Amino acid sequence: MFRVTSNSELVVAPVSDQSLHSTTSRQHFEEQLISHLNWFHERGRQVRFWWRDDDAVAPTPALETLLNLSEEFGIPLSLSVIPKYAEEELARRLKSTSAVHVLHHGWQHKNYQDKSREEKSSEFGWRRSAQDLTRELVEGKQTLQELFGSRFVPLFVPPWNRIAPPAVHLLQQQGGYGLSAFTWMNHFRMPHVQSHVDIIEWRKDKHFIGWDCARKRLDLELCRRRTNSTDPIGLLSHHLDHGNGCSNFLEVFFKLTSDHPAVRWLSSKELLNEARKNFNQASEVS
Ligand SMILES: [Zn+2]
Repeated sequence: MFRVTSNSELVVAPVSDQSLHSTTSRQHFEEQLISHLNWFHERGRQVRFWWRDDDAVAPTPALETLLNLSEEFGIPLSLSVIPKYAEEELARRLKSTSAVHVLHHGWQHKNYQDKSREEKSSEFGWRRSAQDLTRELVEGKQTLQELFGSRFVPLFVPPWNRIAPPAVHLLQQQGGYGLSAFTWMNHFRMPHVQSHVDIIEWRKDKHFIGWDCARKRLDLELCRRRTNSTDPIGLLSHHLDHGNGCSNFLEVFFKLTSDHPAVRWLSSKELLNEARKNFNQASEVS
C-alpha cells in the first residue's frame, strides 16, 4: 500500500480512476472517517486539523469556491501566496474574509535545479547563492507584509515543498519564521507546521486522488494521532489545479469534520505560535 518516493516521503499511492466518483467509495470514506473521529471522542480526545492551499496570486472563481467553503463551515484557511506575482486585488478580496491568513510561498515559484540531471524541482534548493536566496526572502516578506498586513503569517512554504539545508539556515536568520512543507521524516531545527494529506493526483492530468486514496491517507494520519493527537493534520489543496472532484471532496470533508466534537480546526497563526513555544522549550531542554 505504501511507496517510498525518492525524497523518502512516505505516501499512500493513489488508486485507479475507477473510484473517483464511486458512491460506494465515498460511503466507505465517510464511514471510516466518522469511525476514527468517534474513537477519539469516546476517549475524550480531539484531533487537530489545519488547511493550507498553495499558489494564490489573484482572486479567481476557483479561489472563490475555497473562500466560500471556509466561510460556510467556519474553517480557517491559509493561502500560501507567491510574493512576486501577488496582486492588490487579492489583498482587497481577502479584507472581507474572517478566517483567512497568508503564508510566504517562495519568491516567484521558479525551478533552479537541473531537470536534465533528474533533480527534483526547487526554488530554494542547493544550486543558488546565499545572496540571491536572502534577497528573495527579504523582498518576499516585505511584499506580503505590505499587501496583507496582519493577515500575513511568517510561515515559509517552499515551492514544491523542497528546501535545502543552507536555505533553511538563511530562513532562520530572518527571525520569527516557521517552515511548512510536506510530511518530512527529518525535521529541520526550526518551528514547523507540516501538511500531510494532499488531495491532488499530480502524476497524470491533475485531479482528485479519489475517495479510496483519501480514505487511506487520512487513515494513516489518524492512526498516527492515536499516539500523538497534538500533532495537527495538514490538509493540502491547490485551488488552481482542482479538477473535477476536489471541491466536492472539500465540501464533504468539512461537513463531516466541522461539527464533530472530536475535531478542532486551527489557523496557521495559532499553530505557528504553538510551534514556536514548543521549539523554544525543546531548545532550552537540549
Ligand atoms: Zn506551489
